[in-house]
Amino acid sequence: MITSSEYRKRLSKMRRNVYMKGQLIDHDHPRMEGAVNVIAKTYDTITNPEFKDYEDILTAKSHLTGKKINRFCHIHQSIVDLLAKQRMTRLTCHQVGGCIGRCMGIDAINANSVISYEVDRVYGTEYHKRFENWLKEFQEKDCTAACAQTDVKGNRPWRPHEQLDPDLYVHVVETKSDGIVIKGAKVHISYSPIEEWILVLPTRRLTKEEGPWAVSCAIPVDEDGVKLIVSAAIYETSNKMGAPGPFGSADALVIFDNVFVPWERVFLNGEYEFGGQLALLFALYHRHSYTGCKPAMTDVLTGATALMAECNGIEKEAHVREKLAEMICTSELCYGTGIAAAINAWKSGSGTYVPDIVYCNVSRRHAGINIYHEYDILSDIAGGMPATLPREEDWLNPETRPFLEKYMMRNPNVSIDDIHRAFRWVQAISCSDLAGIMQYAGIHGGGSPRMEQIAIMGSYDVEKTKNIAKRLAGIPVEGKYSFDRLGVTPEGIE
Ligand SMILES: Cc1cc2nc3c(=O)[nH]c(=O)nc-3n(C[C@H](O)[C@H](O)[C@H](O)COP(=O)(O)OP(=O)(O)OC[C@H]3O[C@@H](n4cnc5c(N)ncnc54)[C@H](O)[C@@H]3O)c2cc1C
Repeated sequence: MITSSEYRKRLSKMRRNVYMKGQLIDHDHPRMEGAVNVIAKTYDTITNPEFKDYEDILTAKSHLTGKKINRFCHIHQSIVDLLAKQRMTRLTCHQVGGCIGRCMGIDAINANSVISYEVDRVYGTEYHKRFENWLKEFQEKDCTAACAQTDVKGNRPWRPHEQLDPDLYVHVVETKSDGIVIKGAKVHISYSPIEEWILVLPTRRLTKEEGPWAVSCAIPVDEDGVKLIVSAAIYETSNKMGAPGPFGSADALVIFDNVFVPWERVFLNGEYEFGGQLALLFALYHRHSYTGCKPAMTDVLTGATALMAECNGIEKEAHVREKLAEMICTSELCYGTGIAAAINAWKSGSGTYVPDIVYCNVSRRHAGINIYHEYDILSDIAGGMPATLPREEDWLNPETRPFLEKYMMRNPNVSIDDIHRAFRWVQAISCSDLAGIMQYAGIHGGGSPRMEQIAIMGSYDVEKTKNIAKRLAGIPVEGKYSFDRLGVTPEGIE
């Protein structure tokens, strides 16, 4: 395992291919400091003695080498691994107050580990061996990876092969003796400018005309032909008054302008039916990660609401307690459903454990449809101050500070400095560039609620529920009643 300073050093050595605000910038440019600090936390949490008791959650034993590795690089070998991944996600998100940025990588490696094995079984290819060889180095070097799944997609109702421009979905444009060349662009790719690898995989089910779009591979972020057009944001917290961070995000439109990928890093190439399975499986793993990060985000918002109530002297009011209980129900329902998804996991042919489809999707959908409501509760209890809080410089200016100390005072049990710190932080998490991004991420990251609905309805046996109703109504039903879960994960890939 490496330290955060080694991670930062690696970033500083990467080839310049990041564009932001009209300029070509370095991978460790100060505008991305917030996002870099987030990824650094995934290394620092392991080395921080405060988290010693969580070592089993934050690290794992590699099934390939037997060595201790960062759990973000691990392939789930058991139900316990899935539960640990969920806990690690919630714990690490708490440290940065939002997305932890490495779950895309762990979810993409797990999906690849399952599907590469299945493709080989059907076609006699050697994707799984290649994938494991690449993974060994990835684990050994404690690397980070973004997952580039979402294609730019052009006109939504049209399939990849129906688009006016075939590059609107990433596809293979040339096959050479030593590898393939891919072209296209992926969008919203989180943390990609400040991670080392991009794992490219398909975004949707594919038809038999769509073999060239069925591609999965690993590409160094600074590879020739890769260009990243980045949008980054930062939480402007009160650093001068001791707040950690700053933390932030960096999402990119990633362009693959005829990028060569050697065979050693190609994990799917043309087997279209497995392209769709890989897309769905990555989404499934990612929604399971959301059963850790969404509760963490709700914990942050619940804590912020309680803190605002205390600052305002209203923490004992009945409506405040009712709203806090509502938020707790959202976080714990999502988390509990994630636990159920792990407990009902099944072992795939490769040995990798796959979480339950219905429970993962129910959790992710529930979190997605509640996200704006949580911000609604926070802003209700906070009042308007997070929106109009005077700048930190005015709090520190001796001329204006006495007035702010006098007129910003609220609950006498909370010091004026803590009132300032609390409102500054709540402004950052609820009323900033990054807060807007977190809200959109809460809806669409890992798939929009509509996609979860499709997954739920595709796996849930509504007929069985109808039969329960029919029996109770006295309508004859064929077959014997047997108690069974209604959303059964099939013993296959889909
Ligand atoms: C902050 C953030 C971070 C993200 N990070 C990543 C990442 O790291 N990696 C990654 O791969 N992706 C990432 N995503 C992408 C995310 O998975 C997508 O935003 C999500 O799948 C929705 O896709 P879209 O944004 O293209 O919206 P669209 O697909 O355009 O959806 C817009 C609306 O159109 C509807 N719609 C779309 N297609 C159809 C159709 N054929 N028929 C009918 N209705 C349709 C949708 O249901 C939705 O209501 C991220 C997104 C956000 C916001």
